[in-house]
Amino acid sequence: MTYIEFLRIIKDRFESEEKKVIEKVIVSGEESLNDEEIEILDSLLENYKISNCPNCLEAINSDDYETFLFIYDEGMCGYCRTRYDNMMKE
Ligand SMILES: [Zn+2]
Repeated sequence: MTYIEFLRIIKDRFESEEKKVIEKVIVSGEESLNDEEIEILDSLLENYKISNCPNCLEAINSDDYETFLFIYDEGMCGYCRTRYDNMMKE
C-alpha cells in the first residue's frame, strides 16, 4: 500500500479541514501544503503511525501503511490477529 492509497482510505474518516488537507496531498502532493496544513497532517497521521504493535511489540516499518491501518482498526498486527483467531477456534 502506498502513502497515497493509505490517505485515500483514511480520508473519509475525517471531516472538513483535515479532510481538505488529505485531499490536497492526494491531488497535489505534500509540497503543496502550507505550514498550518502540514501541522494538521502531522497530527492526524500521528494516530496512525506507530512504531510497534501494541500487543507483541513487533517493530513496524515507517512506510508500512497497510500495517498502520490494520493495527489502528484491529488494535494488533496481522500476526497477533491470526494467533488470536486461532486461539478462539480451539
Ligand atoms: Zn503483534
